[in-house]
Amino acid sequence: MKKQVETYNPYTGEKLKSYNFNSNSEVNSKLETANQTFNDWSNKPIAHRVKLLKNLANLLEDNKQEYANLMTEEMGKPISQSIAEIEKCATLCDFYIANAENFLADQIIETEASESFISYDPLGAILAIMPWNYPFWQVFRFAVPTLTAGNVGLLKHASNVTGTALAIQKLFTDAGYPEGCFQTLIIQHDQMDSLLENDTIKAVTLTGSEKAGRSIAALAGKNLKKTVLELGGNNACIVLDDANLDKYIDTMVNARMQNNGQSCIAAKRFIVTKNIYDTFLTTFTNKVKDLKQANPKDYDAYSTSMAREDLAKELEEQVSKSLQLGAKVHYGNLRDKAKYQPTIITDVTTDMPIFKEETFGPVAAIIKAKDKTEALNLAKNSRFGLGTMIFTEDIDNIYQDISQIPDGALFINEMVKSDPRLPFGGTKASGYGRELSKEGILEFVNTKTVYIN
Ligand code: NDP
Repeated sequence: MKKQVETYNPYTGEKLKSYNFNSNSEVNSKLETANQTFNDWSNKPIAHRVKLLKNLANLLEDNKQEYANLMTEEMGKPISQSIAEIEKCATLCDFYIANAENFLADQIIETEASESFISYDPLGAILAIMPWNYPFWQVFRFAVPTLTAGNVGLLKHASNVTGTALAIQKLFTDAGYPEGCFQTLIIQHDQMDSLLENDTIKAVTLTGSEKAGRSIAALAGKNLKKTVLELGGNNACIVLDDANLDKYIDTMVNARMQNNGQSCIAAKRFIVTKNIYDTFLTTFTNKVKDLKQANPKDYDAYSTSMAREDLAKELEEQVSKSLQLGAKVHYGNLRDKAKYQPTIITDVTTDMPIFKEETFGPVAAIIKAKDKTEALNLAKNSRFGLGTMIFTEDIDNIYQDISQIPDGALFINEMVKSDPRLPFGGTKASGYGRELSKEGILEFVNTKTVYIN
């Protein structure tokens, strides 16, 4: 068994730090602390828990540069995008400050009883297994609603962002959350079995790959524990003949390339109808060529480094297998360790890895469709179901297609994005359950029927 996890700056390759893994007895003692804290925390009025959110939001604002630097060092995100991520976490706190009490209030249901209502009780300790791509946001998206509902949280973060995981734990402590409300576990996969068997853990949420999701869901299922899974995506971005490229081309480029393409909801397959195809390809390529490749610490850097070299190699492999099947490199496709140049691949067909699989990096697959019907059919031809984008000026004509899209989200003339006010999650191999909004805060509560005759 490895004793330590090491973190690296993927842009420079330099080693950052080593951290000891928690032993099983350390994990057990954190579970005991979680249990004890839950007894008190769950009985606090919601107003008390909401008050602490304000402290969190203030600390995020005060320390945003420090947190942004840490994320950028550990996973290579451009610094301006890291800062935006911290700011988004603060807006998430603001959203639940304004709405949590209302979402969690008892809901009266008229029946023949003298009184009947639904109450939303916290469950206990919730385990969050989180990825490195948005190392603050993914954790906050879980922790803010879940803790405000009266649960306590345990975080197993991706090992390459262990420094960020510990910074988030300290942030919760500094904001006044009692010890045991939010704890980071630095653990290995083989410690997961006994963790999920432990009665203290009531439910699990995982954001990450389909493989990780299947493995954790199986363990949770064996132990009859609820899961929320936010897994990969293979979002289509449909560009119809009447799309307004002048207005939306930057959005389309951003939809694929931001965060070095490492987003589950990124536009991975551009499905473009034939009359606009050539203009789209020229405009899109010109914009991609303009993306500034630089050190992630530079404020105007856009394209920096993927989070790990093995992930960049995996992407290269998906592209090269697709090229063998007839795809063509239209632009880019150079890799230097973890750095992958923004890339455009054309002549993509449905049998190719870059059509069928999730590509988690800056590679845009471009597919030509003869008309809207074919474009929609190609978009739906996916094992994944996180979201679809359609760019068109004929909004009236799109309403009839909304129910055809089997995904968790449909965005028209906008990239798929998460917003605290709207539910977020997928269908099919993208997982199940919802985060954010009212739906998200109600994922980890006991929806209890109370009936008084
Ligand atoms: P993983 O899914 O392997 O990692 C995500 C998280 O799950 C990490 O905390 C990881 O821990 C943990 N994890 C993975 N397997 C297990 C397990 N068996 N038991 C316990 N914890 C586990 O993603 P990778 O980093 O390997 O990236 C691979 C691919 O996953 C990407 O190329 C992309 O396709 C997809 N992905 C999707 C994300 C999304 O937002 N939906 C985010 C990240 C990746 P540890 O770091 O210790 O392995």
